[in-house]
Amino acid sequence: MSEADSVRPSDFIREIIREDLNAGKYDSRVHTRFPPEPNGYLHIGHAKSICLNFGIARDFRGLCNLRFDDTNPTKEEVEYVESIKEDVRWLGFDWEERIYYASDYFDQMYAYAVQLIREGKAYVCDLSPDEMREYRGTLTEPGKESPYRSRSVEENVDMFARMRAGEFRDGSRTLRAKIDMSSGNINMRDPVIYRILHAEHHRTGGKWCIYPMYDFAHCVSDSIERITHSICTLEFEDHRPLYDWFLRQLNVYHPQQIEFARLNLSFTVMSKRKLLRLVEGKYVNSWDDPRMPTLSGLRRRGYTPEAIRNFCDRIGVAKRDSVVDIALLEYCIREHLNKTAPRFMAVLRPLKVVITNYPDDQTEELEAVNNPEDTAMGTRKVPFSKVLYIEQEDFREDPPKQFYRLSPGREVRLRYAYYVTCTGVVKDDSTGQIKEVHCTYDPATRGGDSPDGRKVKATLHWVSAAHALEAEVRLYENLFMKPDPEDTEAGSDFISCMKPNSLEIMSSCYIEPELAGLRPGSGCQFERLGYFCIDPDSTDIKLVFNRTVTLKDTWAKIEKGQKGKG
Ligand code: ATP
Ligand code: MG
Repeated sequence: MSEADSVRPSDFIREIIREDLNAGKYDSRVHTRFPPEPNGYLHIGHAKSICLNFGIARDFRGLCNLRFDDTNPTKEEVEYVESIKEDVRWLGFDWEERIYYASDYFDQMYAYAVQLIREGKAYVCDLSPDEMREYRGTLTEPGKESPYRSRSVEENVDMFARMRAGEFRDGSRTLRAKIDMSSGNINMRDPVIYRILHAEHHRTGGKWCIYPMYDFAHCVSDSIERITHSICTLEFEDHRPLYDWFLRQLNVYHPQQIEFARLNLSFTVMSKRKLLRLVEGKYVNSWDDPRMPTLSGLRRRGYTPEAIRNFCDRIGVAKRDSVVDIALLEYCIREHLNKTAPRFMAVLRPLKVVITNYPDDQTEELEAVNNPEDTAMGTRKVPFSKVLYIEQEDFREDPPKQFYRLSPGREVRLRYAYYVTCTGVVKDDSTGQIKEVHCTYDPATRGGDSPDGRKVKATLHWVSAAHALEAEVRLYENLFMKPDPEDTEAGSDFISCMKPNSLEIMSSCYIEPELAGLRPGSGCQFERLGYFCIDPDSTDIKLVFNRTVTLKDTWAKIEKGQKGKG
């Protein structure tokens, strides 16, 4: 990680940790964890949590574990485990040898559950899920105690052993903590600790038919790993009393839970459940579709780990939920690629240009700057010849007033090449469509500068027809039409908010031959068009590019507007 990366503002969690270190709490250790449930691919929201947990470990010379919270066998898959490992590594973080699975602790969790039973703090309950809901009460009314709450310790021990042995069917019984059915916090109303689920687990196979619930498994896992600060999102604030209750009753090592606001992004849905729906409903092509807010989607789109880490630093860590403008994420990748991405010329919607006074069989190698932001990136040669392609939208036969690009009689600059003047067009006899634009060039303007100081109002990008490679270019828009995709009519949901044409495929584009040497995945700028990267769908015959982001910075405007308001 670079130097610039290591200078970052503090936040309320780092303040707490600093105080704990000063007070010598936890033997002045800092040990965090990132605990994903392997039931989907990681998204940009997870990146915030990864940067926070691994970032704190780095800043305080502590440790951060990767722990799979795999307590729900029916929704979890090995594919997800592998993708999560790949994404965390790609983001630039290292769990070293500390990769753990909650399922590794199932024996210990079972033993803890038995300990609670023996101490009269847990009981086997025969209420059905529906009955249990009824007994739970509401926010305004206390719950009712289960008729099974007073079972003897012996009976509970026996029943729990039989639950484990597989004697009962799914949902017929649960193990519950005996806390307080009248608690103002519903999480404390005798929450379920274990449920019966006859399902194969991706790691433990058929060994278990009872599985611990999240609230129990999570605090016990944190305790076993001797985590110091258990950082989670705000919706778990009301679960903290339960987290603390379990660890106190068990009388075991006790980390401190700290909650922060989750990341929400405009024009995006974030929960894995919704992202799964987009994949399964074939609204997108895959988890790594470049329109997805998943880390694998962003990577395929051309986002860099540096840009995402930078984004996470900028949004900071707060105690209150908010929505971050997606323009800020785009700003961060633009900022990084502006510094690092080599420039090339590519034409997405080609229009043929013939330089009528240029020798038929001549080719020149013109020098082009690879990155004006970084002279160390040097220059390259771009072939120029009699027949070129320019962008259709850079020519108008009948130019409107504010149009300064190529039109009959008008002189413009071809980037790195020559001044050219349009002398006429050739049209298709039957359709009337323009097939070719004819120009003359001024040999004295080689390199794109006029020795007599003559000014032109436009500089166009181009490629030489004889030398260009054909490519496919995919342009992406937000998946959703509204900043809040959940803001829909009653009876419909975020799916109804999807933009119909969020993917546009341009299948006959022309690119500079030099681009054949670009590494898959690495980003480049197509001059005047945006930042792009090579998609894995590319073949030896045809390169496929994804547009990562356009060149237009909408964030600067938004920020200015916000400052103006404040
Ligand atoms: P989702 O709602 O997207 O399914 P989750 O919280 O169920 O997310 P987990 O796999 O349990 O997903 O998350 C692993 C970690 O990432 C947790 O600590 C969780 O708090 C954090 N996390 C998940 N989503 C976000 C988000 N949008 N912003 C910040 N942190 C998040
Ligand atoms: Mg979850």
